[in-house]
Amino acid sequence: MRVILLGPPGAGKGTQAAWIRDRFSIPQLSTGDMLRAAVANGTEVGRQAKAIMEAGKLVSDDVINAIVAERIDQPDCAGGFILDGFPRTTDQAEALDRMLAERDLRIDAVIEFQVDQAALVERISGRYACANCGAGYHDTFKKPKVPGVCDVCGSTEFVRRKDDNAETVAARLEAYDAQTAPLLPYYRQRGNLHTVDGMAPIGEVTAAIAAVLEPLATETASGPAGGSAEKAGSSGAGNA
Ligand code: AMP
Repeated sequence: MRVILLGPPGAGKGTQAAWIRDRFSIPQLSTGDMLRAAVANGTEVGRQAKAIMEAGKLVSDDVINAIVAERIDQPDCAGGFILDGFPRTTDQAEALDRMLAERDLRIDAVIEFQVDQAALVERISGRYACANCGAGYHDTFKKPKVPGVCDVCGSTEFVRRKDDNAETVAARLEAYDAQTAPLLPYYRQRGNLHTVDGMAPIGEVTAAIAAVLEPLATETASGPAGGSAEKAGSSGAGNA
């Protein structure tokens, strides 16, 4: 299954991508994470991207398109993938269409996270992650069960993204409105755009996404054995 998560920064794409990844055993391809890794490793791409990311602007389409094209050819993407943070411009969406067509693949669902942008600054400014396993937390909305200890791996080291501050967030939201929001009609026209309420509690957003993806997973099943897909509706995959 191939899924695109579309929504402004702080909409909850990363949180839900982790759930989709675990549920359907497909990798989460976050272009933001890839770029942050490139910056941390001091690669040429990282050197080019660093200042742009810190200003909340978008890295050039050519660089991003090349990164994604290379990533989707990795063996772990054979059964599908989740695109988190890509495409972000019309040029990227068109490049993605070409990449998929060349490989005889298609996107099964585009999930739009609808959010109240005024609430996003608080959401983003308070977030941090475990430095060891990457589990996400928030100062107000999602604290670790034991203060200062990661629920998932027990680490006591946490990190905050450099661009998760009020000033940069404003620029990132502007970039979203100007360059990424135009993708909504692009995908709506294709009939595979599904909208979820990104302001709902995390579990409710997950349930809404599950309701979209579970039936598609049955339809598009091409599991590791590569066996014949079960037909939707015949295997009791009843969903609410
Ligand atoms: P994210 O983690 O998705 O919020 O991305 C963090 C930053 O990485 C963005 O503000 C951009 O500077 C850059 N970035 C991530 N994905 C893309 C993309 N698809 N196109 C251009 N820039 C991107």
